[in-house]
Amino acid sequence: MFYVGWADGVLSPEESRKIKEKISTLNILTLEDKVIATHWSTPTNPPSDEIYQYWQYIISEYCKTHNVDSKSIIELGMMLARDCNQCDDPQYWTNDETKAALQDLQSSMGSTNAEVAELLQDKEEEVSVIADFEIKEMTKALDKKYTDYKAKIKKLLSYPEFRLQNFPVKENYREHTLQWTKALADQGFGALAFAPEYGGENDMDKYAALFDTLGYHDLSLAIKFGVQFGLFGGSINWLGTKRHHDKYLTDTGKATLLGCFAMTETGHGSNVRGLQTTATYDSATDEIIIHTPTEEDGKEYIGNAIHSTMASVFAQLIVDGENHGVHAVLVPLRNEKHELLPGVRVEDCGYKIGLNGVDNGRIWFSNVRVPKENLLNKFGDINDKGRYTSPIKNPSRRFFTMLGTLVGGRVCVPRAGLSAAKTGLSIAIKHCLQRRQFETKPGEQEMLLLDYPTHQRRLMPLLAKSYVLSFGLDYLTDRFVQRSEKDIREIESLAAGMKAYSTWFTTAALQEARESCGGKGYLSENRLGQLKADTEIFTTFEGDNTVLMLLVSKGLLSNFSKEFHDDGFMAVLRMLGNQFSTLVMEQNPFTKRKSESAYLLSGHFQMATFRYREQKLLYSVSQRMRGLIKQKMSSSDAFLRCQTHLLQLAEAFIERTFLEQYIAQTKLVSDKSTRAALKEMGQLYALHTIESHKDFYLESEYMSPAKTKAIRRLVDKLCLQVRNQADALVEAFDIPDEILSAPIALKK
Ligand SMILES: Cc1cc2nc3c(=O)[nH]c(=O)nc-3n(C[C@H](O)[C@H](O)[C@H](O)COP(=O)(O)OP(=O)(O)OC[C@H]3O[C@@H](n4cnc5c(N)ncnc54)[C@H](O)[C@@H]3O)c2cc1C
Repeated sequence: MFYVGWADGVLSPEESRKIKEKISTLNILTLEDKVIATHWSTPTNPPSDEIYQYWQYIISEYCKTHNVDSKSIIELGMMLARDCNQCDDPQYWTNDETKAALQDLQSSMGSTNAEVAELLQDKEEEVSVIADFEIKEMTKALDKKYTDYKAKIKKLLSYPEFRLQNFPVKENYREHTLQWTKALADQGFGALAFAPEYGGENDMDKYAALFDTLGYHDLSLAIKFGVQFGLFGGSINWLGTKRHHDKYLTDTGKATLLGCFAMTETGHGSNVRGLQTTATYDSATDEIIIHTPTEEDGKEYIGNAIHSTMASVFAQLIVDGENHGVHAVLVPLRNEKHELLPGVRVEDCGYKIGLNGVDNGRIWFSNVRVPKENLLNKFGDINDKGRYTSPIKNPSRRFFTMLGTLVGGRVCVPRAGLSAAKTGLSIAIKHCLQRRQFETKPGEQEMLLLDYPTHQRRLMPLLAKSYVLSFGLDYLTDRFVQRSEKDIREIESLAAGMKAYSTWFTTAALQEARESCGGKGYLSENRLGQLKADTEIFTTFEGDNTVLMLLVSKGLLSNFSKEFHDDGFMAVLRMLGNQFSTLVMEQNPFTKRKSESAYLLSGHFQMATFRYREQKLLYSVSQRMRGLIKQKMSSSDAFLRCQTHLLQLAEAFIERTFLEQYIAQTKLVSDKSTRAALKEMGQLYALHTIESHKDFYLESEYMSPAKTKAIRRLVDKLCLQVRNQADALVEAFDIPDEILSAPIALKK
């Protein structure tokens, strides 16, 4: 009984009181028994480790040699008492009064027979085959309402016109990418997110579904498409007003007006506020003068720069000598003959590690004049009297609101990256299900690569994670599409963190996919090299991942300050401290050694463990910062000092959110066997993630070494289970052979 009580984490003060009450009235107990039992019933005086392990030993040994399957905890206890010869008088274990008292005790401990049976019979579970599911049902669960739509796009991309090719010369590749982009625009895909009057459907959700489908194909196409319609078109759509929409959106959606998004400068990338290009209002001519002060302030890495006739240029807006911060202005770059206009200089960025189908360039402006109307004026305008006006008075809020409207890119980029990772994993898994190396016995067939536990360990957690991220990124897209002013900050933070976490995943998954295919993985025809080279920059553009993760942690800390009515940072820290102490107090010290499979596989355990890490990091980093601030350090310096700690906090927050969303969403999948298979993928993701942080859990004494070992064994088992359905799980991504295209992935 005490073994169950302590292992189970249910010895609350109320239960402890009831148990003590029962002990005092039990006639079978001697005075000495009562003293010991009362001691063990006090939450602050648990049985010693030695005693607990002794109980565990005798119970598990007994269960191995006796059939206890249908026994209740009480019956088991009585059998143990009898057979272990702990009491020599049979009346103690047969008498009704004892039985009734024990039954009462059991209900005080709150355990049901089923739970107890599971707990006591920690037998080696047979490795079951992951639930058999219909591939079509799984595709539906992944692609949801866009299943047919995505299939239609994939069909289009499978046509010979879209055949994937290697283009050694960047100019040919760029030309091809441009023609592909125009072909998609001809089908109406470019304008999807724009209003119907400009040829669109006002449907950002559908645009996101389209964008991730492009991610299975050629990433240069996906990125050029994204720059033209998402970034250039998006800046006009979100930062401009009707006059810009009427004039430019229809042509932008049709790709008859090609444009670029010129934000980054050589000198300033992550620090957008520090941009040096100026947009100075000249009241004499009612024009804006765009100027690059020094060579270092030129725009750099700008996608579509070589093909564009117009740029959306981000610059410091200066009106009447006053700098009003970064604003976007539409600046023509070239004439109808595609010649550069006076004052504009463009250079090619040359060959890159990947994405060579995208024409990235550098742009400088020398006092280029554009009409005042070219200012994208939704959040800041110059009125007829030549004065600056804005609906948002606070310059800092205005800056973040403007950038916030462009979060769509951060929502879409990780989706395309995830599709690339799914493609790479499909290629690798399909190859490893055909490729054999080494026989285990002479004369026998050689082993399939995917039958090696190391291969399972390398690829299956990544496959599981790709499923989890898929659901999480859908959640992000939903939240973004339904955003309101109230939750936009939270969504921006979510987008920043999910973008970083997912694109890091893509890079890691493609590297592992390449290595797991050996030399074949290195051949260009098998696509892994190009997929890797094309997507690894996803960790940098649309916001550098590290910088984004720091933004997330800043957001987590400032969420609390709102709850505190801006009472100051110290108040925030105090509150975090109190919150975390409650969390620790509520934790039963014995849960840390509970290592039964059923318990470790439960969503409850996994969520609690993810939450603990997040809360503990939030608490510890805030404690550290409090210490630094107390020593008179400014809060921004304290933030800087704690950067590495803050990165871990952001990761813990994002991991918890992904798991939470995955569990919530997969529960809603109507097909039972699909749901069961998804559940197992979630379990592998969760336990593998916990395992990857085991140093944290051991250091913070949240888990015992026995428990982390049990988790490792369980991850091995889950990898094997998932391996048994690996082919079906990648088939469910529904990537046509024409797009997968790698010879090693095609069935021989
Ligand atoms: C192929 C490609 C296409 C692009 N397309 C476009 C485009 O179309 N339009 C456009 O405007 N831009 C574009 N960019 C630019 C891109 O957005 C920037 O490269 C990105 O924002 C990072 O800026 P940076 O290169 O100056 O890096 P930096 O800001 O110099 O960062 C370099 C390193 O320093 C770290 N770092 C920076 N600040 C901090 C900090 N505060 N704390 C800790 N670490 C920090 C970063 O993590 C990073 O590892 C493109 C870039 C590439 C390579």
